[in-house]
Amino acid sequence: MPDPSGPQPDPGASMKARLRKRARAITLAYAAFAGLWIYFSDAVLAAIVPDAETLVRMSVYKGLAFVAVTSLLLFVVVSRAFRRIEEGYTTVKERERERRALQLEAERVGRLYAALSAVNQAIVRTSEGSALLQHVCDALVDHGGFRTAWVGWRDPVTERIDPAAIAGYDEGYFEAIDIFADDRPEGLGPTGLAFRSGEPYVCNDVSADPSTRLWREEAEKRNYRGCGSFPIRVGGTVSGVLSVYSDDTGFFRSREVELLVEVARDISVALDALTREASRKETEEAARRERRFSDAMTESMPGILYLYTAEGKFLRWNHRFEEVSGYSGSEIARMHPIDFFAPEHRPLLAERIGEVFQTGTAFVEASFLSKDGSTTPYLFTGRAVHFEGRECLVGIGIDVSGKKQAEEKRRAAERALRDLNRTLEQKVADRTEELRTALVRAESADRLKSAFLATMSHELRTPLNSIIGFTGIVLQELAGPLTGEQRKQLVMVQGSARHLLELIKDVLDLSKIEAGQLEIRREAFDVAQVVEQAAETVRPLAEAKGLRLDVSIASDLGTAHGDPRRTHQILLNLLNNGIKFTDEGHVSLNAERENGSVTVRIADTGIGIKPEDLDLLFQPFRQVDSELTRQHEGTGLGLAICRRLATLMGGEISVESAWREGSEFSVTLPLDNGA
Ligand code: ADP
Repeated sequence: MPDPSGPQPDPGASMKARLRKRARAITLAYAAFAGLWIYFSDAVLAAIVPDAETLVRMSVYKGLAFVAVTSLLLFVVVSRAFRRIEEGYTTVKERERERRALQLEAERVGRLYAALSAVNQAIVRTSEGSALLQHVCDALVDHGGFRTAWVGWRDPVTERIDPAAIAGYDEGYFEAIDIFADDRPEGLGPTGLAFRSGEPYVCNDVSADPSTRLWREEAEKRNYRGCGSFPIRVGGTVSGVLSVYSDDTGFFRSREVELLVEVARDISVALDALTREASRKETEEAARRERRFSDAMTESMPGILYLYTAEGKFLRWNHRFEEVSGYSGSEIARMHPIDFFAPEHRPLLAERIGEVFQTGTAFVEASFLSKDGSTTPYLFTGRAVHFEGRECLVGIGIDVSGKKQAEEKRRAAERALRDLNRTLEQKVADRTEELRTALVRAESADRLKSAFLATMSHELRTPLNSIIGFTGIVLQELAGPLTGEQRKQLVMVQGSARHLLELIKDVLDLSKIEAGQLEIRREAFDVAQVVEQAAETVRPLAEAKGLRLDVSIASDLGTAHGDPRRTHQILLNLLNNGIKFTDEGHVSLNAERENGSVTVRIADTGIGIKPEDLDLLFQPFRQVDSELTRQHEGTGLGLAICRRLATLMGGEISVESAWREGSEFSVTLPLDNGA
């Protein structure tokens, strides 16, 4: 790496020179030693050894000894040199490794600085929270070299930490995992720990750190080797966590952690600033709204409106004030309230204004003086208010020139209204009286009609009975023999007369009931006996039609309360209907005690009744099917009478039926309670 501070001696070159010098010194020392040794040792040897043969031998020994010594010396020197070389080599390698590590670290930190700078740029440029978080994550992945970066935000209801922004490679990681802010197992990972402690949590080896246990499998699938989580505060409280994942272990050293802590802190500061900005905007908007509202209020006032200080300086007024006075806004701003009144009114006005500031409120009627000299009668009300730190008067003036006229009109209207009210009362009273008479008339007409019908039917019964009786006598040939045809005709007369009599009897009953004339006995009676009699009465009818009549009477039936004759009538009617409307099968009668009353059920396997016809059953003169009317005789009054009779006795009748399957009529009568 070139050093800008200037050329420097190459350390390698000086080292080489030094080594060469030492090599030269060693070689020279050796040459000198070897030369001296050879020269002097031979001289010494020649002096002390007498014969030539021994000299030669000793010389050989000396030579060998020399080789041995120098070899030893050589060995020492060379092995020292090798050791040195080896040591040097190791140092060089170590240095290289260190240099590489430092370079990597520098690169990493450099990248983090770049990310931090991108984050800060994003903070400056972004005015919206979630966009800011996204930019931060993008910057950390793009510039900081992280595999994934995300910001999780706590949902205060569920305590879940959900991603608010994600950048980089995740491949469904966040769908596959759950992270919580509280201390359940899913809250014990790096993110949850950082959230609760408010301190960064780093893990340099995902596969070994106990905190990552729950997420390890998913993390390893995505090659997340290290991770770091850094709390983000809003308004001083931890609200979210910035988490980054690296694809190598041991990524997070103190410098990296410091820088990431700084990123998280910058985010917190930016979010706080955004919150403040938002609330400032909101306040401003509220103030603007308030202003618009008060403007709308002042402008929509029917009269003039103004606000001035205790010294009489106008601060606000509505548009109408300018219209009515004829002065422009800038003129009004320079005028005094008293200027708007005729000279003779001014003392009174000054007094009233003083009153407002003393007592809080006052009003006065006075002529308002316009710029063109015209005056209009006005009613003014004033109220003392505190406005922007000053005592002020807020006042309203209403044009009362039309007041007198209006008052007159109002009085006339009131008079008219009073008159109207009086006549109305009379009209209502008259109408009420009319209605009352009409009602009385109607009621008595109804009673009269019923009474008339009752009498008439009674009158009709006598001659009909004679007809039936005399026809019977003629049919018995007591008055002489009859031809076949005569007999046939007379039987028809008798049949029709009987039918008519039935009808009359029914009409009579119904009319009496309606007219309130039917007398019902209220006494204790033996129900079982009445039921038995009714059944026995219709048994021949059933047998004649080939129907079975099943009768079952509970032994504990007891004593009912009511009219035995009418009860008999009801049962007879129901049994007759059952037999009449059944062609095959059976009719059954079942009497038992039920819920403190007696219930008699009469069921048949006959034609049944359609659901839509059930409601018509108990209405007078309603026969359900006109076709049936032709097949089955009847007046259509029976059930109507039965129901009224049962009701009069304090009981009831109900029906259940299925079309073409059969019907069941139930009569309920009160039990005698011994009273
Ligand atoms: P009616 O004298 O014509 O029988 P009711 O009032 O007794 O008059 O009955 C009214 C109508 O109700 C009958 O015409 C018949 O259509 C129907 N109805 C009454 N009882 C039965 C029944 N057991 N099965 C089928 N239809 C019935």
